[in-house]
Amino acid sequence: MKHYDYLIVGSGLFGSTFAYRAHKIGKKCLVIDKRPHLGGNVYCEKIEGINVHKYGAHIFHTSNKKVWDFVNSIVEFNRYTNSPIAYYKGKFYNLPFNMNTFYQLWGVKTPAEAHAKIEEQKSIAMTQMNAEGITEPRNLEEQARILIGNDIYESLIKGYTEKQWGRKCSELPAFIIKRLPVRFIFDNNYFNDCYQGIPIGGYNQLINGLLDGVETRTGINFFENRTQWEKIANKIVFTGKIDEFYDYQFGKLEYRTVRFEEEVLETTNYQGNAVVNYTERDIPYTRIIEHKHFEMFGLEIEKFPKTVITKEFSTEWKDGMEPYYPINDEKNNTLYRKYENLAKKEKNTIFGGRLAEYKYYDMHKIIEEVLNIDI
Ligand code: FAD
Repeated sequence: MKHYDYLIVGSGLFGSTFAYRAHKIGKKCLVIDKRPHLGGNVYCEKIEGINVHKYGAHIFHTSNKKVWDFVNSIVEFNRYTNSPIAYYKGKFYNLPFNMNTFYQLWGVKTPAEAHAKIEEQKSIAMTQMNAEGITEPRNLEEQARILIGNDIYESLIKGYTEKQWGRKCSELPAFIIKRLPVRFIFDNNYFNDCYQGIPIGGYNQLINGLLDGVETRTGINFFENRTQWEKIANKIVFTGKIDEFYDYQFGKLEYRTVRFEEEVLETTNYQGNAVVNYTERDIPYTRIIEHKHFEMFGLEIEKFPKTVITKEFSTEWKDGMEPYYPINDEKNNTLYRKYENLAKKEKNTIFGGRLAEYKYYDMHKIIEEVLNIDI
């Protein structure tokens, strides 16, 4: 006797959005999650009145109106606009690379001056490389220097990328950087999308709205009682690790992870911005996030006497650590395809989300995908 139409393994955005849609058309769902809370990686914990993004800063952005209308039908989103700044050797630079950055770097004031400066930078890098006999970029360092010139590469790309990957840029493949977009306008908005923001009241409001009326259980690992779980539903929606689902029979997929160091500080405003990137190689963390700024604007910031910051350290992944970023190189992609072939043969299991598809997905892409599933 099956008790449920769907057993949904994982309460992240994929599982929760799927549960919402299935529940809405009268399907009986059970959502289980091995963590002690719902929401997967968008989960926030309230500390000192501030929603702290426990698994890394999450900023929702999309150009898909259907996705934007859908999430706003669950919870209204605020006007947060991501405008990160970079800190390098005692100075701040605006990101993404735009007229503000070019002014800060070189004092250029017009788009024409900025264009000319970047062309000059690229040409110097090219001449230097040609002198060394390099005609085609062989690694990320050479690729970046050709695309943007030495100044921006050295100050804003090199150290940050080396910390992110745990390897020298000269040892990383060139294809990682295909383009380095530059803007010849004074615009610090990181994303090009039409819509962006943070759910008012935090991401837990979005998850609670999606799972409203759905039966959920936390602290339950599917693999600890797999046979029992497989019996209770007609279909399984699996959003955990695909290699684990198949008992790692072909080997383990690899990831990069991030270590978070959280601090509560006795000040109302620590860095004046939600995201500051540290682009020097010698500073061990890549970013400092000040969570307050995602949801509090203007004088509201002063209402809470303390602030919470998180330092992010990009780290080599080992078993037992949170698998954050898939390493989509040839070796891992080949391995994934073997698991994917097994998954395609399953009749009663739907595999979805970042772990089951071994793919980095932004949140709007996850939602878009679930909205397109024929339930
Ligand atoms: P998850 O949220 O990981 O959910 C999977 C769930 O399954 C987890 O809760 C897990 O506990 C559970 N689970 C796994 N195995 C089992 C098991 N065996 N039994 C029971 N439960 C299990 N996207 C953006 O759009 N903007 C951003 O700014 C952004 N920032 C990010 C920052 C970081 C550091 C990372 C890693 C990602 C970021 N993303 C961002 C992407 C975003 O996190 C994902 O799109 C989204 O969380 C994926 O949802 P999901 O449901 O696939 O996975």
